[in-house]
Amino acid sequence: MKGPWFARNLRKWAKAYIEDRDNLPVHLYGSSATSRIDDEGFAAEIQLHLQSIGKFIRALDIVHYLSDPEVQKRHGLKKTVSLATAQRWMKKLGYRWKKEPKGQYSDGHEREDVVYYRQHIFLPAWANLQSRMRIWEHNNVNIEEIRSHTTRRVVVWFHDESTFYANDRRKLRWVHIAEGAVPQPKGEGASIMVAHFISADYGWLQSPDGKETARILFKAGKNRDGYYTSEEILKHTKQAMDILDKYYPDDEHVFVFDNATTHVKRADDALSARKMPKAPSQGWGVEVTVTNDDGQPLYGPNGKPMKRKVPMAPGRLHDGCLQPLYFPEGHLKAGWFKGMGQILEERGYDKEWVRKLRAQCGKNFNCLPGARDCCCRRVLFNEPDFVNVESRLETFCRERDFSVLFLPKFHCKLNFIEQCWGFAKRVYCHYPPSSKEVDLERNVITALDSVPLESHQETGEVLTKVYLALYILIILEMALISIILLVRKMMLDNRCFS
Ligand SMILES: [Zn+2]
Repeated sequence: MKGPWFARNLRKWAKAYIEDRDNLPVHLYGSSATSRIDDEGFAAEIQLHLQSIGKFIRALDIVHYLSDPEVQKRHGLKKTVSLATAQRWMKKLGYRWKKEPKGQYSDGHEREDVVYYRQHIFLPAWANLQSRMRIWEHNNVNIEEIRSHTTRRVVVWFHDESTFYANDRRKLRWVHIAEGAVPQPKGEGASIMVAHFISADYGWLQSPDGKETARILFKAGKNRDGYYTSEEILKHTKQAMDILDKYYPDDEHVFVFDNATTHVKRADDALSARKMPKAPSQGWGVEVTVTNDDGQPLYGPNGKPMKRKVPMAPGRLHDGCLQPLYFPEGHLKAGWFKGMGQILEERGYDKEWVRKLRAQCGKNFNCLPGARDCCCRRVLFNEPDFVNVESRLETFCRERDFSVLFLPKFHCKLNFIEQCWGFAKRVYCHYPPSSKEVDLERNVITALDSVPLESHQETGEVLTKVYLALYILIILEMALISIILLVRKMMLDNRCFS
């Protein structure tokens, strides 16, 4: 606390400043008020300690460091410093609180395919689900319990993975002024990846008593738990479906995943025209990696993953019937791959036309832009069943009557689980630092459990509004286009009459 002496001075400085705007009080560093951090030895020791922590350092780390009795004894301190002092010292030591000086993040929001997916697939699907969702108001009030008694309520579960670092990973951090655009590679400390599902209706996906949970803690990296592969995501989703079937069988459940390659991965034998020959071919198939029961690849004596050939899954004809891609038993070429020519003929394309059609345009399949019937491969590429191949995840869930919706690429902000990670991480970074794995795991779990259900429901509601706004935008856009077309048509008509 500052005493009356300081108050008197303040008054004096203020008066002086009002009279003369250049008259600012000057702090006399080096005379009486030298800061401890000005001591080079001391500053070096603090620097060294901060560097040992790694990339995600906090001013709080200085506070913690100086609360160690050993350190206090060495420097003749009676107590540690305040957080405010530590923050001032960070600046003196050359750190600035700012975003990581990393490369540019390219934004793909407006990429054509992304816009198409967002406008024509994702938002209509969402609008359709929304009519059957519970609606939440502020203060945790469910304003519309159920709209139609004939349909089941839809519960949307957002999936995501997030990594918690022992030293708290953030984008905004203390960055040393000497640090260039390339961040120091070492030491983010031990880490745990959490994969989980969350809904606005029930919170984290778990049994009502919390004993069974879909939370997965994963120590990613070599020599730890391996990596979160597309096999892992299937296992994880199965765990979620088991809990939902058991405890929430009355709702209709939809899983929302982001567009990561591990999520949208198709089955190895999925329909693809990419490598098909045009003529019938014996032994043609898809090369797949041999795996063990856990989905981990098996390696051959040469150290490379072992491969084997499997037949490609059948296609689907326009009438919905399956179209096997291999000649049946009893055929002259039984078991042979039919080839693109035969496949197209069976789909009703003219035999003569197909016979003359080349297999593909150029060596690199570089058809003219917009061409649709220039070569066999292009025609097959545009067949509905070749376009709409399901991901493994979709097939896996559909078989158990669950649905899957993928977020548009580059739109991970639409996943409200992000706010929940944010909440949990704010709690988490207040725990005392520890790089012990047990502490890390316990801290992560308690931080996750601290996310209140109300915040899901409110974010759920906010999110609903965001989707609604996007949807209205599309409708307006479509209306505008129709009006423009109509006006143009009228103008043309007028020109004809006059
Ligand atoms: Zn072509």
